[in-house]
Amino acid sequence: MNGDVAVSPAGTPLETPVIACVGVVGAGQMGNGISHVCALAGLPVVLLDVERAALDRAMATMARNMDRQLRRDLITEADKAAALARVKTTTEHAAFGACDLVIEATTEKEAVKKAVYRALIPHLKPSCLLASNTSSISITRLGAATDRPEKFIGMHFMNPVPVMQLVEIIRGIATDEATFQATMALAHRLGKTTAVAEDFPAFIVNRILVPMINEAVYALYEGVGSVAAIDNALRLGANHPMGPLELADFIGLDTALSIMQVLYEGLSDSKYRPCPLLVKYVEAGWLGRKTGRGFYDYTQDPPRPTR
Ligand code: NAD
Repeated sequence: MNGDVAVSPAGTPLETPVIACVGVVGAGQMGNGISHVCALAGLPVVLLDVERAALDRAMATMARNMDRQLRRDLITEADKAAALARVKTTTEHAAFGACDLVIEATTEKEAVKKAVYRALIPHLKPSCLLASNTSSISITRLGAATDRPEKFIGMHFMNPVPVMQLVEIIRGIATDEATFQATMALAHRLGKTTAVAEDFPAFIVNRILVPMINEAVYALYEGVGSVAAIDNALRLGANHPMGPLELADFIGLDTALSIMQVLYEGLSDSKYRPCPLLVKYVEAGWLGRKTGRGFYDYTQDPPRPTR
C-alpha cells in the first residue's frame, strides 16, 4: 500500500490512507472469511459480533479453513499460527478505536446495517474508512447514513472469501478518490482481483447471478424439474461448478431473497419478483447450509434434496 500515488480527478496527488489495522463487523460466513484473508496478509484484525458464540464459531472456521490451505501447501503452520494470533474478537465497538478501515459484513438488511453504523461511528477515529460487504444495497444510501460518506465504499467479497478471486469495488456518489485507491490497494494486497461496479442494485455479480437462482426456484415451484434435475442440468449442461439451488443454499436463502427484494424495489421491474417458494423457505427458517436445511437437508451425508 505504501508507495501508491493516487491522483485526484483534478490531477493533484492524493495522500492514500495507509491501512495498518482492519476491523470487521459481523462474524458470519463472510466476516470470518474477510478476517481470514486480512490476517494471512499480515494485518491485525478486530472482529466484532453481537453474539459471542458467532465469534467462537468464526475462529474455529478460520482455523479449519487454514488447515485446508496447509494441506495444500499454500501456507505453513507458522503462517497459520501468526494469522490466528492477529485476530482479536470482541463484542465492544470501542475495540475499533485504532482501526484504519472497518468492513461491515452483517445481515443483508438495511435497517441492521444502519443501526451498526450508529453504534460504531462514535468509536472510530476521524480518518477511519468504512466499507460495506453488502451484496446489493445502495452504497450511496448506506454512506449517507454515516458521518463520513466520502470515506464510505462498497467492498464486496465473494464466498468463500479465502478461495474466490474477485472483490467488487463500488463507489457511492460521495466516495472520494483516496478512499477508492486505498480500498483497491487493500484488495490487491489480499491477493484479490478487483472489478469496479457502479452503484446500482446488486452491482454486477449479483445482478446477474441471483435472478438466475430465483429462476431456478421458479422452475422448481412450477414443477419443471426436481432439485436434483435442476442442479444436474446446470452443472452438466452449462458447466456450472455448482447447481443454482445448491449455490442458493451456500449463499443463504435469506441473503438471496434480500437481494431479489433490493432488485425488485430498486429497479421497479416485475421481472425481479422473488419466487414465492423462496419466500416460504425463508419464512420456515430453512436458510440453506448455515441452518442445516434449505433445498438440501445437510444432516444427511450426502445432503438429500428436500423436494
Ligand atoms: P451471516 O448470516 O452468515 O452472518 C451475519 C452475521 O452478522 C451474524 O454472525 C450476526 O450475528 C451478525 N450481526 C447481525 N447483526 C449484527 C450487529 N448489529 N452487530 C454485529 N454483528 C451483527 O451472513 P453472511 O452470509 O456472512 O453475510 C453478511 C453480509 O455479506 C451481507 O451483507 C451479505 O449480503 C454479504 N455477502 C454475502 C455473501 C454470501 O454468499 N453469503 C457473499 C457476498 C456478500
